[in-house]
Amino acid sequence: MKKKNLVIYTLILVGLIVLLVVVSEKSKEATVNITFDEPPSLDGQPVLGDPNAKVSIVEFGDYKCPSCKQWNERIFPQLKEEYIDAGLANFAFINTLFQGEESYLASLAAEAVWAQDEEAFWTYHEALFNKQPAQQQIIPWVTKELLLEVAQNYTSDIDLAQLEVDLDQEKYIDQLEEDMQLVQDYNIEFTPSIIINGTLVKDPFDYDEIKGLIGKAVEEGQS
Ligand code: CA
Repeated sequence: MKKKNLVIYTLILVGLIVLLVVVSEKSKEATVNITFDEPPSLDGQPVLGDPNAKVSIVEFGDYKCPSCKQWNERIFPQLKEEYIDAGLANFAFINTLFQGEESYLASLAAEAVWAQDEEAFWTYHEALFNKQPAQQQIIPWVTKELLLEVAQNYTSDIDLAQLEVDLDQEKYIDQLEEDMQLVQDYNIEFTPSIIINGTLVKDPFDYDEIKGLIGKAVEEGQS
């Protein structure tokens, strides 16, 4: 009888140890960030802040994506104030066309604005996120009229007739293809995805994680 109990207790103990190992492996998995050998190339991409900053923050985003709107309203202003305006980091935006025709149209307009005036791009970019309705809706909100109206009301030096021609001719389609190539190269699965010096942020809404990764990137840049 005693021997049988001993066997049972041993089995329970072994089971517990196995469970503990599995759980700890799982949590280890969850704490490791995905890293790339190199950060995405920013050639031909809008870059805000010091182009020579030691830290590069790249957003893979979509004007049509509700989480991107939230990220740009909640997280981006903190990042801008604390790191980009302070010259510690620069910030780039890569179009990630995950939501169909409206993503495409808004991105085409943003690329066209950037081609005309790099400064105006950032005002336009912010205004597009602000224009995204707070509630999801069935009727498309990204239209050519809206894209032109935003340029007219929120930027000063954009040639509207040129912007309209660029949209009609889908002039910057090659830029979007380059962006989508980066999306593929960096295995981007959701928007917004944020890469800080080659490390993918696990939770783009976790400002502490972002701060930690920037701190690490600054340290590595100094060594
Ligand atoms: Ca681009």
